[in-house]
Order: sequence, then structure tokens, then C-alpha cells
Amino acid sequence: MAQRSFFGKAIAGGAVLGNTIGFSGSRNAWAARADIGEVVVERDVPGKPHKGKVLAAIQAHLDDMPHRYAGTCAKLINEGYTGYLIRTSNDEKCGPGTCAENIKSNEQENLKMAKTLGFTDVFDFYCRNHRMDGISSVEIRSRLIFLFRLLKVDTVVSMNPWGHGEENPDHWVTAKAVEEACWMSGMGDDYEEHLEAGVKPHSVRERYYAVMRPGQPFNRVVDISSTIEQKILSCAECKSQGGGNSGSKLRNRLAKEGKRLPILGNDDETADREYVRHFLIKGWSTFEDMKEKYGLDYAERFYYIDQRPPEESEVERYIKGNAVPLR
Ligand SMILES: [Zn+2]
Repeated sequence: MAQRSFFGKAIAGGAVLGNTIGFSGSRNAWAARADIGEVVVERDVPGKPHKGKVLAAIQAHLDDMPHRYAGTCAKLINEGYTGYLIRTSNDEKCGPGTCAENIKSNEQENLKMAKTLGFTDVFDFYCRNHRMDGISSVEIRSRLIFLFRLLKVDTVVSMNPWGHGEENPDHWVTAKAVEEACWMSGMGDDYEEHLEAGVKPHSVRERYYAVMRPGQPFNRVVDISSTIEQKILSCAECKSQGGGNSGSKLRNRLAKEGKRLPILGNDDETADREYVRHFLIKGWSTFEDMKEKYGLDYAERFYYIDQRPPEESEVERYIKGNAVPLR
């Protein structure tokens, strides 16, 4: 696919493990469960602590990631991750045109949007929009497993797989396939033909599942103050859906009525960007209680799961302390 190589970058590989991102996250998945664990605030870390690591952001639709987890993706990429964006649906039902026109405009805007956040490459699955619960989940999962292995993905950022309060089947179908593929991509006996082709098993160890609907659980709040401008730009690129052109539309409407809003500036680009800043991201990146509770101006919320192995297993630690000579 032509759009796959739009940045002309090679696939990066190699995993670097290490808890270097400035928080004391638990590596025990049980202890970190969102319904029983404490909320951890993840802040910026200077330098490139994630250099050599690979991030995959997975979304069903053009505007899922920009609205709910773009700031975090940009932060992780700025801190050294190589980022890939995977979009599962074809977005045919969302846009001002016919289905065919919507597929094209969403595809083009998705590429522009990915660029604002520093992604290296984009993959599109083109599953039929709003019908993904009728599509084979095994197929979606197997395509994700292939990409996770090929790209050697260490960390995913996606949506809540359990879909509490979710009305869009594309969201939970995508997220559930992500959850399953993260685990299964590390299994040696699944999809043996990958091994024959030189694509080796590779587990995804860190998972950020964004809050998409009110009431979905979270145990991590990411400070996105340093990437809020990138997030705003990414939202403004989502014009077929997601309200990225709301500012220019409002500016033009007001002009016909002989009025203008100074915050929208003097051109469409500024109007779109400033509309996102002042109106659109409220409730997605600015929350009344985030400032109060955590002192954050801009944040995104996730159910975070850390499955990185400890540097030394419990058994090895026990052997060190307790092994005695054979005789
Ligand atoms: Zn969506």
C-alpha cells in the first residue's frame, strides 16, 4: 500500500527493557488492576529513555486516538519510542461525502494526523465501519499479531477492551483483538508460518487502554502538558469526522452574520486549531478534577498494564539465597 511508506522510514526493531519513565509502577498485573490499585501519574522524563523501543497506537477510526490518547503517544515518541499507527476500520460512514469519498478523505487525513504526532508509519486494515462486530475477530487478531511480531512492538496504546458504556462496536472489537494479540504474539506455536518466514514471536509488555466513555476504569493519568500543542494539531486534522474543521465553519457562519470571535483569528487554519483548544478538548484532555487532584492542566487517562518481566525471577532470587553444594 502506498500510504504505508509515506514517511519513507525503515522498520525499527530491538527492545530495551527497564523502568525508566519516572514513576513507580507495579509489575504485578493483579496489584495494578484499575479497580483495586492506586492511580499513578506519569510525567515527562528528560532525554530519550525509550530509545530503541517500539510503540503501536491502535484505533478504529480517524479521531479515536487524536481525541483520547494523542498526547500520550506524542509524549512517548518524543521520549524515544518509534511509533506506528494502526487504524482498523475504513471510516466509510463518517464524512461529508459518499462512502467511497469518505474512505478516501479519512485515509488522507489519517496520514496528516499521524505526522503531527511523529509516527513513523501507518497501517490501515479497512474493515467496514460500524460493522466490525460482524467481522471475524480471529482475522483482526491475526493481522495484529503479525504486525506486533514484525515491528517488535513493546508497548501499545489503544482503547478499553471491555467496552463499559461503549456504543460503538468498532471500538471494543478492535480493543479486544489488541488485548488478545498482545499476549498471543509471544506464543511460539501460534501461526508457525510466521516463524518459517523469519517473523519471530514477540510479546507486547506494556499496555495503555484509554478511557473512551464515562465510567471506564483508569489507574494511570498521563501529564500531556508538553504535547498539548501536538494533540491540538492532530485533532484539527480530523475534518471528515471529529470536528477538526468546526472553527473555520463557525468563523464563516459568523462572518455571514456580520460577526467574528477574536479567539478564532483571521484564517481558517487558526480558527480550526483554536476551536479545538477552547472547546473541543474539554472533557478529553482537560478535566475539572485533574487540576485539583493532580495539579495537571492537561491529561489523558488509561487502564495501564505492565507485564515487563522482573530483571531477576523469584526462583533465581531464591536459588541465590538458598542453594547449597551437592555434597
Ligand atoms: Zn471511534
